Amino acid sequence: MKNNIILAMTCSILLLAGCKSQNKTALSEAKSELTSGIHTENLDTTVNPASDFYLYACGGWIKNHPLPAEYSRYGSFEQLDQSNLDRLKELVVEIAAKNQEKGTIPQKIATLYNLGMDATTIEKQGAQPIQADLKAIAGLKEKEQLTDMLAKMHTSGTSPFFSLFPAADPDNSAMNIAWLWQSGLGIGDRDYYLEKDKQPVREKYVEFMTKLFALSGYSKMVDMEGKEADLAAQVMKLETAMARIFMEKEATRDVHLLHNIKTIADFQAMLSIINVNHYLKGLGVQIETLNISQLSYFTKLNDVLFLTDFNTIKAYLAWNIMNDASGYLSSDFVTANFDFYGKTLSGRQEDKPRWKKVVSTVDDCLGEAVGQMYTEKYFPKEAKDRMLALVKNVQSAMTDRIKNNTWMQDSTKIKALDKLNAIKVKIGYPDKWRNYSALAIENDSYYANIVRASKFESAYQLNKIGNPVDQTLWQMTPQTVNAYYEPTINEICFPAGILQPPFFDMNADDAVNYGAIGVVIAHELTHGFDDQGSQYDKNGNLAQWWTEQDAATFKQRTQVLVDYFNSIEVLPGVHANGQFTLGENIADNGGVNIAYDAMQKAIAAGTVKPEMDKFSAAQRFFIAFAGVWANSIRDEEIIRRTKSDPHSLGKWRVNATLAHVNTFYQAYGVKKGDKMYVAPDKRVMIW
Ligand SMILES: [Zn+2]
Repeated sequence: MKNNIILAMTCSILLLAGCKSQNKTALSEAKSELTSGIHTENLDTTVNPASDFYLYACGGWIKNHPLPAEYSRYGSFEQLDQSNLDRLKELVVEIAAKNQEKGTIPQKIATLYNLGMDATTIEKQGAQPIQADLKAIAGLKEKEQLTDMLAKMHTSGTSPFFSLFPAADPDNSAMNIAWLWQSGLGIGDRDYYLEKDKQPVREKYVEFMTKLFALSGYSKMVDMEGKEADLAAQVMKLETAMARIFMEKEATRDVHLLHNIKTIADFQAMLSIINVNHYLKGLGVQIETLNISQLSYFTKLNDVLFLTDFNTIKAYLAWNIMNDASGYLSSDFVTANFDFYGKTLSGRQEDKPRWKKVVSTVDDCLGEAVGQMYTEKYFPKEAKDRMLALVKNVQSAMTDRIKNNTWMQDSTKIKALDKLNAIKVKIGYPDKWRNYSALAIENDSYYANIVRASKFESAYQLNKIGNPVDQTLWQMTPQTVNAYYEPTINEICFPAGILQPPFFDMNADDAVNYGAIGVVIAHELTHGFDDQGSQYDKNGNLAQWWTEQDAATFKQRTQVLVDYFNSIEVLPGVHANGQFTLGENIADNGGVNIAYDAMQKAIAAGTVKPEMDKFSAAQRFFIAFAGVWANSIRDEEIIRRTKSDPHSLGKWRVNATLAHVNTFYQAYGVKKGDKMYVAPDKRVMIW
């Protein structure tokens, strides 16, 4: 779908995992004789593990998998993603080859896929599918009409200026309320607009806009033919003004700063340029209060809008339509889109083949329908049972670690254990599937159906506002290679997609499973106790359950991690962002320590072999942990991720994490003078 407003809030919790698929049959049947699960061809044994463990554990994989032209990063994650996409393709192509009964799920999948693959018709249609929307914008006469247009766009998948979506009430997590969130910067992070050295990117962005203003026919509609560069420059100026008042990404991690319940009258006073009641009516939402996440942005947005010429605002709205549509239109639009987002921003050399993009779109629009077919074919019940056992063992290891923790007072420990015990677990796929009957997929144009799917999604989301939170819903489809912790429900979720090698190997001894999926489980549990998660109680409400002293100690300890990551140079002159990645780095640190303890218990219980293929259990654990993050990445992508991804880069998720893990020092005899070495009193110990 064009964009998912919900992601604005929840993506900071995600694991955004990486992996490889050595053993494609692993999930289908477990062998009686378990292997070690270590693939020595993935290692580079010429590297000293105490100097660069990432390169030692992943160097072979990196050498054997050169970065393909279509990728900005290619790692074991993309490899598994690719094999998942092949499976989805097989399912979709089989359905699309047959005549399907109108209104059924197979018909929706088939029509959408066939339209997307029909390059001839898409070329012939050119800019036609977006003409009506652009004309409606071109025809606006005065700023009073902005209200209706924003409501229309916000319910069709585009989010100029801001978005409104449902999320749990921070004071009463059982209820969904409306949240407002800043949005609408086409390049992405605000730094691209404001940093001096990003001028080349800005120039390319203006070129991209200039091209689309001409291709789409918008410049002609507003009598600016030949002056597309002027339109683009105006929009750039407006977006730069927005970037200046955007809340910085580090601040958006502060859940208290984002908690601002206001009345509709308050919001109206703030944003007098639109008629708020009218706007909400257009969204079909009836509310008396809402949460304004970035109060500073919304208090200043009105001035920006007042000071901007209405023709510029119109051009900006039109730009939002054509930019979001460009990936689904004729090849001139697609190429322009790829040149900017693919090449300039991410360093990719080639676009993906059409089938990959179309299968991904079917997956985006009808995710749970496709997911149901996927899990029926590819997810065995035994995998769920073994996962449940792993989760239980990891949870019990974390319980012991909290009990034995030396820096927390007993009163806080009791609350932490309470919260840990209350965490709910989802594995594989949802108990009830989403109903797609209200989504019609018609045989008119590919893009028209993308809009239908966006409207369907938007209506579904907005309908949650004012209703109780449905805790059975999933935030990811089952075929997704990822996992999450949701603080407002206090739950962890592991979709079927991630329960494959190299995360989870049914044929392998559990040392590698503890190192890979075990760390993922512990990582997600730790999110309940990171800089954000620790602010929520066991019921998912924003509430202080820490003693003042423990909260201060926690902050002190996590600051070690902030400083350590700030000191890492990801490219010459470019540093990692310790504050922005703190939650993920806490979760990685806790993840490794906790899963390691769980494995020790399994060794004691005789379910993990102390030595296999000449590797100790600890060594297999750390190699499996690192193997999940094997990847090659382009410089542009390193910069883009450092600006926008709250997760550290793969190399540093391994090396910077392990440099603070005592058991890693024991497993590989790391000592003073080794590159990975950090003095014991400088190592972070949180969970
Ligand atoms: Zn995470």
